[in-house]
Amino acid sequence: MVRGSFLPLARHALTLEGAKIRRGLLAGLLAFSLLATATPVSVAPANPKLYLDDIKTLAAPDMEGRGAGTKGLAKASKYLEHWYKSLGLQPAGTNGYLQPFTVTTGAKLKPDNSLTEEIAGTKKELVLSQDFGPASFSSSGIFAGPVVFVGYGASADEFQYDDYAGVDVKGKAVLVLRYEPEIFGERSGHQGLTQHSQLVTKAINARNHGAKAVIFVNGKLADGEEDLLMRFGSISGPQDAGVLLLQVKNAVAESWFKAVGKSLIEVQQQINHLGKPASFVFAAGPQLSLKIDIEATHANVNNVLAYLPGKTNEYIIVGAHYDHLGYGDSNSLAPSQIGQVHPGADDNASGTAGVMELARLFAPMKGQLDRGILFASFSGEELGLLGSAEWVRQPTLPLDKCAAMLNMDMIGRIKDNKVYIGGVGTGSTFKVVLEQAQKQSNSNFKIEYSAGGYSASDHTSFVAKKIPVLFFFSGLHSDYHKPSDTWDKINAPSAAQMLDLVADVIVQLVSAPAPPVFVTVVEDKPMGGISGGGGGYGPYFGSIPDFGEVKDGVRFSDIRPGSPAAKAGLRADDVLVQFGDKPIHNLYDFTDALRRSKVGEVVEVQVLRDGKPITASVTLEQRK
Ligand SMILES: [Zn+2]
Repeated sequence: MVRGSFLPLARHALTLEGAKIRRGLLAGLLAFSLLATATPVSVAPANPKLYLDDIKTLAAPDMEGRGAGTKGLAKASKYLEHWYKSLGLQPAGTNGYLQPFTVTTGAKLKPDNSLTEEIAGTKKELVLSQDFGPASFSSSGIFAGPVVFVGYGASADEFQYDDYAGVDVKGKAVLVLRYEPEIFGERSGHQGLTQHSQLVTKAINARNHGAKAVIFVNGKLADGEEDLLMRFGSISGPQDAGVLLLQVKNAVAESWFKAVGKSLIEVQQQINHLGKPASFVFAAGPQLSLKIDIEATHANVNNVLAYLPGKTNEYIIVGAHYDHLGYGDSNSLAPSQIGQVHPGADDNASGTAGVMELARLFAPMKGQLDRGILFASFSGEELGLLGSAEWVRQPTLPLDKCAAMLNMDMIGRIKDNKVYIGGVGTGSTFKVVLEQAQKQSNSNFKIEYSAGGYSASDHTSFVAKKIPVLFFFSGLHSDYHKPSDTWDKINAPSAAQMLDLVADVIVQLVSAPAPPVFVTVVEDKPMGGISGGGGGYGPYFGSIPDFGEVKDGVRFSDIRPGSPAAKAGLRADDVLVQFGDKPIHNLYDFTDALRRSKVGEVVEVQVLRDGKPITASVTLEQRK
């Protein structure tokens, strides 16, 4: 599961107990449902031992945390391929069971990175990884010119604070402190650091002010804290922020301050004491010569796809992603343990093993069910739902014959019988089907339903294509995205019960006389999956960004009905390239621009529709 908020699930909670009060209605609905499963299909119960064995295999050290670009991920795909083949399921990829595609995994430094400073006629070459280091989401390129100190690099209208007020940084480098002025905490009610403290926000703000290079510096350190350069690749950001980004050690910046008779730490203290910016141009130098040379790294990964044909060409998808964070990337929630295997036993060996177990249980019914079943093991999920995005872009079975998509992501840690099922509002029959399944499976699950079909996992790619989705989930926990997400913490007996429930849902969906009708759920929540966290999402715009990679701009996979974007005539597949006075190169730029806007503001946006620019005025609304 990609990092994102799951709180909306609780906000949309609708308990089964609540539904049961309406007995009359329920009885009628059950009758319908029984009719729908007129042909009895019996599925053997899931086997918790086999299930746990698969999780152990997938989470073993030789699978290397199933990170994109590792041999371990390739090994996992072989394991899945072999399993589906042994069950006699049909290959449903583009290359046998596999659907290969390429993902960007990160960046690496090329040999030619350098920084030279010249102060009062004296040139000094700084040492890479010792005095300075590029950030992984930097552009590649060269810069020569002066430096402007811009404090924390924040332009925060909401706090009446702007480090860029009165200084011209066009074509120059800016020196920027990490974190944020102390008054932000006071003025925002001490709810933790705001969005302005994030390096991505600082980079975008600098670029939007015309700076060519951004030089981060730690500034004042906590007691006992060392002045370290950020580890290359440890900060998440866009692939290319559109500006040169690096960090220098405090000592380097202090020498620049000293040359103009100041002190970095003193100026920083002054900003915090007075709550006012203290930006200035380094008139007496340094003059910098900077070269940053970074290369994006790519990996070839595979979705693994197996088909159980039914009597008709309609089918449902039962899917789970099998990739995880490998040795930990910028999505690790244990940054100090990056380099250790992140086994991802719950995320998402638990869902992957679930699909494997369901495939085993249904495989003997080849040609006997009314609809077929596509068993889908997606890759690239942790990098932004890339495998499922690839599948809906290049579907290996006709999209219009897909009756429903069931996604399992993190189903291994059921506690106190509590489970979450999302997407319940997206299919006309889902509520009834689920209630019937719960009755059938004799589980004591306390199910929390949510209607909407958008959240931070692969089903989102399908709901954007107007396919009804169900999302099965056992909840977040403190081992999420850490090396401690290990197999011994999996609750296999409860997960097997959950699989029995899913199996019953499958039986009903493949046997019902008609497939569920897709229902658009009006959702009031921000999209999960946008990295960054912290701070609000700004006013309501109403687009669903495509998580696939777009070269430049933000592609909308959908527009929420009735939203500001819809009212302005924006459509799915439009590519946003300009938002007011801000260019939009990626999702980070869009998120930043939206956060800086106000409810009621009318924003001129430009989108590319079939490659042609179109302008629209969007009146931003209050997020509900
Ligand atoms: Zn995840």
